[in-house]
Amino acid sequence: MSASVRSVALLGATGSIGTQTLDVLRRSPDQFVLTAIAGGSRVDELIAIAREFHVAIVGVLDSSAAAKVRDALPQTRVVVGDEGLDELSRSADIVVNAVMGFAGLTATLGALDAGKRLALANKESLVAAAPLVDQVRAGRETDLVPIDSEHCAIHQCLAGAGSVAGLPSVKRLLLTASGGPFRGRSAAQLHNVTKHDALKHPTWSMGPKITIDSSTLMNKGLEVLEAAALFGISVDRVDVVVHPQSIVHSMVEYVDGATIAQLSHPDMRLPIAYCLGLPERLNHGWGAISFTEAMTLTFEPPDRNAFPALDLAYEAGRTGQGAPAWLSAANEVAVAAFLDDRISWRDIVPIVADTLAHYDGTSLTSVEILREHDATARRTAEKMIASL
Ligand code: NDP
Ligand code: MG
Repeated sequence: MSASVRSVALLGATGSIGTQTLDVLRRSPDQFVLTAIAGGSRVDELIAIAREFHVAIVGVLDSSAAAKVRDALPQTRVVVGDEGLDELSRSADIVVNAVMGFAGLTATLGALDAGKRLALANKESLVAAAPLVDQVRAGRETDLVPIDSEHCAIHQCLAGAGSVAGLPSVKRLLLTASGGPFRGRSAAQLHNVTKHDALKHPTWSMGPKITIDSSTLMNKGLEVLEAAALFGISVDRVDVVVHPQSIVHSMVEYVDGATIAQLSHPDMRLPIAYCLGLPERLNHGWGAISFTEAMTLTFEPPDRNAFPALDLAYEAGRTGQGAPAWLSAANEVAVAAFLDDRISWRDIVPIVADTLAHYDGTSLTSVEILREHDATARRTAEKMIASL
């Protein structure tokens, strides 16, 4: 490998962000080499990716998946479970964490601890583990770049203004939200929405969990917490504005009244390429706007009454410590139950709220404590679902 080629480990390779990352890598063969991948249940897809990119190490969920990969690819090293994800997250120059949900925790902590660049799509790990991530980042240089389009936009706005680290002159961060498929509906009009409706996102094509989170605005709530953790700012200096066109990906308002924004057509390959290429920009032009055709950009406040998930996330952020982990765990359980047809859409956020009310205020001082909190929150949420 030449010195200028950087190795990439892609965790969650079979998913929406994973396959778009593969697209970026296919277009940049002189700059990156994919050395490691991991996935979950789609083992055949994982094998096909390993073959195409000649990857050295493949991470799988369990021993039966491991046997299947070893059969298909006898020359490839296969690692299993959380231990495997830990090894992979320390194995390459750049670690793309595109795993869904709390399962992304090991890779987030592993990559930061090993001093690798963490290109982070997996917001749930950062939301749940913010105090632990702070510990890892304290007193040393870490390289954490967000793939999530809003946070990537803010990273670009801050970098453009010459300050990603210190935020003294920032008044507030403004996260834009598409508003999801149910924008404009009142609480009463949201009573009987179906899974089919909730899975239809107006501007982005994403995995099922984040698509449902976008329909409840929990995604935006998680993103408020993600922004606070990433940029070291309180949730009360993070605001949300609904922008249905998804062209302005987020903004930074400075104390002098200036607002800096990042604009592009919605295409996740742009933030992925930004995270891989930094400090350079890759020359692919994804999402570029021509500006020769008329375009209207609109902004409106979110409907906090119809979408109470947003304020619930702020509340969890103000409580801090384990509260965001409880919120995120309960939400994962409730969304899975909804996708499984066990609860209706309108049950999701009340289940999260009722579960969060059980958080006892214990501090998050270790990964073990976080895992206990996550497990307890999940059990609590499952009990609520069973009692419906
Ligand atoms: P998908 O559901 O499309 O993909 C999830 C990926 O994670 C799949 O490759 C899946 O494997 C893998 N996976 C799930 N559980 C495990 C596990 N225990 N160990 C290893 N791999 C696992 O989700 P998305 O790509 O949409 O989202 C991924 C993350 O990125 C989420 O945190 C999401 O919030 C975030 N994100 C996504 C955006 C998007 O546009 N999609 C935008 C911004 C953030 P398999 O499918 O083989 O089971
Ligand atoms: Mg986002």
